[in-house]
Amino acid sequence: MQILDGTAVRAEIFSRLRPRIAKLKRPPGLAVVLVGHNPASEIYVRGKIKACGALGIYSEKLTPPESIDTPQLLALIDDLNRRPEIDGILVQMPLPKQVDSRRVLESVAPDKDADGFHPVNVGHLVAGRAAPRACTPAGIMEMLKFYGCAIDGRKAVIVGRSDIVGKPMALMLLQENATVTICHSRTADLDEECRRADILVAAIGKPGIITRDFIAPGAVVIDVGQNRVEDRELAEKLGREAEFARKGFALVGDVNPIDAVHCASAYTPVPGGVGPLTIAMLMANTVELAERHQRE
Ligand code: NAP
Repeated sequence: MQILDGTAVRAEIFSRLRPRIAKLKRPPGLAVVLVGHNPASEIYVRGKIKACGALGIYSEKLTPPESIDTPQLLALIDDLNRRPEIDGILVQMPLPKQVDSRRVLESVAPDKDADGFHPVNVGHLVAGRAAPRACTPAGIMEMLKFYGCAIDGRKAVIVGRSDIVGKPMALMLLQENATVTICHSRTADLDEECRRADILVAAIGKPGIITRDFIAPGAVVIDVGQNRVEDRELAEKLGREAEFARKGFALVGDVNPIDAVHCASAYTPVPGGVGPLTIAMLMANTVELAERHQRE
């Protein structure tokens, strides 16, 4: 059983980005818009800014108040869209209730869409054209390639159909010639569907629901879930009693890690598997956008 280590893949991605950044006429620029004071969002944004610093990417954090309305946020994005030193713009989700999140995300210029969420870039992904790609699934593709996991001709099953993980994951695996099934909350016989997978991707948001009944012997299991478990019994069932005793909660994926280690040929642990790749691919998208802007 191989543990797929996200920090090793991130280090490799960073080492490929460094010479590309060095070749640019000016550093790539990323603007991160963080509205209000959501503690989880603050942690994510800190990680993104830190990664920019480590790579020599110029970063700018904009922190409008929680009370901001849609027109004000659209004006802020419009300003970033016009600034030549800003190559990528990221609007940290979730936004406050009064803001029209969809309108805000769609107001980011497609050629500054560091997250790859803009419908124009989703369209490019569908059409198989180069464009910024959703960071988490793009990172998983890098992980599969780094560890030499075969994709071509393999059966891939993805549980979850969100716009940010499940759907773009399916398209990226399809592009690499996997035979792809997408499952969701209305899928009948989910365990049976999952057992068909050579590559099983769980992007659900439910702690440990993928058990050994869902995993074919020898499957590659990618666990995207990041769930905070505050129930001691569940933490124990997932083998996290020590972490629970220390912190009063455990951070677990969607896959039961004990079962994954038992059944899979390769598995991404939580934490330390998929997590480090999302920020790495945000950096990769930003560098790619900067290269594109400096060629134009
Ligand atoms: P999401 O938007 O809530 O989507 C969850 C998907 O799972 C939906 O498609 C839903 O189906 C499906 N689902 C829910 N319960 C199910 C069940 N019992 N059986 C089968 N399918 C079920 O979540 P997301 O944003 O894609 O995120 C998924 C997980 O990945 C979360 O834990 C999140 O924290 C984590 N995540 C991690 C990273 C990272 O960097 N590691 C990045 C992004 C997300 P329906 O569509 O039918 O409702």
